[in-house]
Amino acid sequence: MSCDVSAVVSSFVEKVVSRYAERVDRENMAPPGFFRDAAGQGVFGLPIPREYGGWGLPFPDFMDALRLIARESPSIAHIIFVHSMSAYFVEKFGSEELRKEILPAAARGERILALAFTEPGAGSDLASIETRAERRGDAYVLEGEKLFTTNALYADTFIILARTGPLEARHKALTLFAVDKAKGLEVGEPLDIMGFRGTGLARVFLRGVEVPATRVLGRENEGFKPAVVGLGVGRLPFASIALGIAEGALWEAARWALERRSFGRPIFENQAISFPLAEVAAEVEAVKALIRRAAELHDKGENILLLTSMAKLLAARLAVKATRVAVQVMGGRGLLSTSKVSRLYRDAKAAEIAEGTNEVQLMIIARDLARRVKARHGFNH
Ligand SMILES: Cc1cc2nc3c(=O)[nH]c(=O)nc-3n(C[C@H](O)[C@H](O)[C@H](O)COP(=O)(O)OP(=O)(O)OC[C@H]3O[C@@H](n4cnc5c(N)ncnc54)[C@H](O)[C@@H]3O)c2cc1C
Repeated sequence: MSCDVSAVVSSFVEKVVSRYAERVDRENMAPPGFFRDAAGQGVFGLPIPREYGGWGLPFPDFMDALRLIARESPSIAHIIFVHSMSAYFVEKFGSEELRKEILPAAARGERILALAFTEPGAGSDLASIETRAERRGDAYVLEGEKLFTTNALYADTFIILARTGPLEARHKALTLFAVDKAKGLEVGEPLDIMGFRGTGLARVFLRGVEVPATRVLGRENEGFKPAVVGLGVGRLPFASIALGIAEGALWEAARWALERRSFGRPIFENQAISFPLAEVAAEVEAVKALIRRAAELHDKGENILLLTSMAKLLAARLAVKATRVAVQVMGGRGLLSTSKVSRLYRDAKAAEIAEGTNEVQLMIIARDLARRVKARHGFNH
């Protein structure tokens, strides 16, 4: 990370994240001052290109930034990640006019973005999306319901995947839209969830919302592939958040183990305590290396979708393992709902589900394994 950005992230963690982390989780809501303070530190423009007013951070540096933020607050890292991923959709698939309208304001944190793909009947299987977008002249009319939209309570613009053809056409009749809340999109109550609390997670209702055709991202009926590729690339920043959870828990528990005395000596001096921590420390470095390698390949223009699935799977599992170890090491104090490690424990479990479940990552990895083995041995079935 360049000195400038590194200083921005450190200052953000120190001045904003540490101040709001516990409250965001407890109240399941980012207090009003949070967005003002975070925008003041410039963190909503981290990966947005410089020409649109962002920092234009290289992908490996964005990974480091999210990991450092997530060590203190996975929820705050997730708010920034979803905002940034939504901006990526505008940058890659929006018209220049749309980019100029949305990205500079997003980089300044004056326009918060969200991504609403998941529906009550379409989670892992996005091709079964039912929200309809019907063409009427120069506009589309959207009708449907989205579930689990991070940032929904805070966002001004939503990236929405909707059906522009028959249900039977599955992924071949889906289109991406950038929809402003001001167009009549309605947001439900905050969802009272176990992990990643305070991220503005809510339902989104589209009841006859009229969206100009100029706000289609890419082309009509061709939204599925960009959506899946965007989500796939987005698994790497999410893996960094999960890695930050593991690292945050590790440091908290190791510090405690060196301080806490039982039977006359620090508990760290028992291998039953220090070995699980040492194992987590080794795995943190392994996952960090995988994430860095994938991020570097991404910036060289290579396809990293297999690596992002691997990184996301391993990082989320490591987060669960690290937080379980951390709670155990901290004993009763680790279980207190006010303890940092119990908060990270809840976030870790959610990391195995959000941004594509462990099983979905295994499906992607298994499919690729079969393809490679078949190619190597000349199977033709
Ligand atoms: C904290 C959080 C934030 C989120 N934020 C967003 C957001 O901003 N925008 C958005 O669009 N969505 C968001 N989501 C939704 C998330 O992407 C979905 O929850 C996720 O994709 C899984 O979908 P589902 O919950 O409907 O589970 P389902 O798809 O119903 O899956 C249920 C279980 O079945 C398993 N399963 C499904 N199919 C198979 C199969 N073929 N083989 C084996 N197992 C299978 C799954 O792995 C899972 O264990 C968020 C979710 C969470 C938890």
